[in-house]
Amino acid sequence: MFTSIKGHSVIVTGASKGIGRGIAKVFALQGAKVMVVARGEVEAKETVDEIRSNNGIAEMQLCDVTDWDAVVEMVKVTESEFGCVDVLCANAGIFPQTKIFEMDPEEWDKVMETNLKSAFLCVKACIPQFKKKGNGRIILTSSITGPVTAYPGWSHYGASKSGQLGFMKTAAMELSKYGTTINAVMPGNIYTEGLRDLGQDYLDSMAATIPLKRLGVVEDIGNAALFFASDEASYITGQTLIVDGGQILPESLEAIEEI
Ligand code: NAP
Repeated sequence: MFTSIKGHSVIVTGASKGIGRGIAKVFALQGAKVMVVARGEVEAKETVDEIRSNNGIAEMQLCDVTDWDAVVEMVKVTESEFGCVDVLCANAGIFPQTKIFEMDPEEWDKVMETNLKSAFLCVKACIPQFKKKGNGRIILTSSITGPVTAYPGWSHYGASKSGQLGFMKTAAMELSKYGTTINAVMPGNIYTEGLRDLGQDYLDSMAATIPLKRLGVVEDIGNAALFFASDEASYITGQTLIVDGGQILPESLEAIEEI
């Protein structure tokens, strides 16, 4: 049995849909106070409404996580709404698919800013909170794509997700003096709005290569994030947890067919 996270203040970026919404719902179900962060008002409000309709506590703050001033404001609003920040789930991300030869430098920069720089900005903005309290938890949503696997069209995305892990390791050392841990969840293929946009053929072919024979659900990632935020994970920092239904295991197509 894990110690309760009830009453803790949790920021979830990219919580207007997909994995972020799943993380927000999982924490809210455990009694945490959740700040739903995204740019799109309509979908962010849907997350808040869903949490509240299940008697959970949620507020929202519209914020582009690539904008330093907006990120600082987002943390300020969370402190004034909930009193402090206990947990940061830096989850917002994009995954446009473009091969290197066809990729504009601007697209490379946009992916790096949204996926990697934003993690730095959100962590930096929360440090005064963690410093004040003498503890804190940070969970990054990385990916298997980049750190472990490869997929044509995702060179920038893979680089950004590997970059998050490089950032995390030094951050784990720097933050240790504030009693703060930082860890990363590495999802495989999780069924989200973003993934759905890649098309049914992609979804079907990916499910066929996963030993557990299905895509993950957003709560799978929410539960992993919840573990890293728990008291029981207080001695784990700078580490990763792959949540992928066994996707990275098969050596070949034949290996999957052998099951
Ligand atoms: P999604 O369904 O497209 O949701 C992305 C979320 O990020 C939305 O809430 C979006 O809200 C927000 N976002 C994007 N850019 C933002 C910005 N500049 N500022 C603030 N919020 C922003 O994507 P997802 O599949 O849930 O992915 C979420 C995270 O999981 C990403 O970091 C992704 O790399 C990672 N991941 C996903 C999978 C998967 O299979 N789905 C696998 C591995 C890793 P707005 O557009 O309203 O701002």
